[in-house]
Amino acid sequence: MSNIITKLREAIGPKKVITDETELDKQRHDYWVVSHLRDYLAQQSEHALCIVRPRETADVQAILKLANETRTPVMPYGLGSGVCGGVLANAKAILLDMSAMNRIVDIDETNLLATFEAGKNGLEAEEAVAAKGLTIGHWPQSIGVSSVGGWVATRASGQFSTAYGNIENIIYAIEAVLPNGEVVNIGISPRAASGPDLRHIFLGSEGTMGVITKVTFSLRRQAQERAYSAFYTSTMAEGIEAQRQIIQLGYTPPVMRQYDNSEVRRNFAETVRDEDGLLIMVHEGPTAMVAAEKAAIAEIAKKSGLDEAPEAAVTKWLSSRNHVPSWTSLFEQNVVAETIEVAAPWTKIMDVYDQVVASLNEVPGIVNASGHSSHVYRSGINLYFTFAAYLEDKEALEAAYFDCADRVLKATAANAGTISHHHGIGRARRDYLVNDLGKGGVALLQTIKRAIDPNHIMNAGVLIPDD
Ligand SMILES: Cc1cc2nc3c(=O)[nH]c(=O)nc-3n(C[C@H](O)[C@H](O)[C@H](O)COP(=O)(O)OP(=O)(O)OC[C@H]3O[C@@H](n4cnc5c(N)ncnc54)[C@H](O)[C@@H]3O)c2cc1C
Repeated sequence: MSNIITKLREAIGPKKVITDETELDKQRHDYWVVSHLRDYLAQQSEHALCIVRPRETADVQAILKLANETRTPVMPYGLGSGVCGGVLANAKAILLDMSAMNRIVDIDETNLLATFEAGKNGLEAEEAVAAKGLTIGHWPQSIGVSSVGGWVATRASGQFSTAYGNIENIIYAIEAVLPNGEVVNIGISPRAASGPDLRHIFLGSEGTMGVITKVTFSLRRQAQERAYSAFYTSTMAEGIEAQRQIIQLGYTPPVMRQYDNSEVRRNFAETVRDEDGLLIMVHEGPTAMVAAEKAAIAEIAKKSGLDEAPEAAVTKWLSSRNHVPSWTSLFEQNVVAETIEVAAPWTKIMDVYDQVVASLNEVPGIVNASGHSSHVYRSGINLYFTFAAYLEDKEALEAAYFDCADRVLKATAANAGTISHHHGIGRARRDYLVNDLGKGGVALLQTIKRAIDPNHIMNAGVLIPDD
């Protein structure tokens, strides 16, 4: 028995330290397609040294203190739905599974605040506040399989972000344990000018700066009214321009999504005509505001030459939007697929779209290269690309994946776009981080990391390029 395992058992109790091989095998990685492909091809079998399942902040403190003293690597794990390889077990590391820290700490209906332990399932958190007529307003597609701490650690976005913001706009306070075992509580009022906002050390930190143990969200009251709009777009550029006008005129439907024709044929068959693209919207808010927004947007769409499409397209999207696909069924058909989300200013976004799709279509075996937008800002918009490649030789699928991903990220970076709108960096995009931060920014991040985690115990290999 390893010395660290004995010490962990003494520190937090034996039941919270798991060494059973079957359990260890279940938590070797997150949802990154490459890890699933390597599993499928039986190319990877390494699991963590042990899994620890803390029940309270004091347990996390004890675990990190021990790990820091013994220089043992630690890998935080929320619910494992990350898609960038942020979790990949190594035989020398402790996998710190937050799923047993899943209590509701407080729901404050006057100040509209809710605090959860970080391992709380996102959908359960939303249901708890929904029972009081409130909403967190954060709806990632993975809401049922991700944790509230994971949302913060990956800087996540929900489907209603255009009005309700991304996780950095919804977070109010964070409790975290630093690698040396100290606890920090950051965020005490709706806004502060008390120096740099230290919550951002943890927003998007992907397990590299410490362990998030509690999160407090600023809630909303549930909307009085909901309405839908849908329009056909004859080109991607036409719909993008209409969206720019809508947002810059001050209208913010929480959901505004535009699909290219390939995605319309794949996702909306028999709901809408199949020769165009599609722009769908959900409007929410006070009844008078919803009616005014819907009418004004219909007018903008008309002037932009967009035909109305059936609202059934929106309800179809709403009913199927949280589907979690299985990679294995694609591998069975000799296909590897992936989605990559990027963003860019309005003046660059069509270059990103055109160049990414053209470049993907050059890859041998490519069977799909398509995109949609789903998060809209005054200064630009995101694009969410989907690619799929078919190859006779399954062993060649991983190389095809990396070729396609490289094309998406390089074409985006070449057009002033970010290489990650909301999935994070993980292992998949670490080598591309310099495109977003520049060499100076990467060096600054490395300096911050060294100061917080001098023994480099937290999630090595993820997010931050090596010094
Ligand atoms: C089908 C599907 C759809 C998705 N849709 C969306 C979407 O709409 N929007 C979106 O933003 N993302 C989406 N994702 C990605 C993923 O769900 C998010 O990144 C989510 O926030 C990860 O949460 P998790 O609890 O599963 O984290 P994990 O996968 O367990 O971990 C992710 C990273 O965060 C770190 N981490 C986790 N918890 C903690 C903690 N408490 N303290 C410190 N570090 C921690 C881990 O070390 C790892 O680096 C989707 C994923 C899937 C599979």
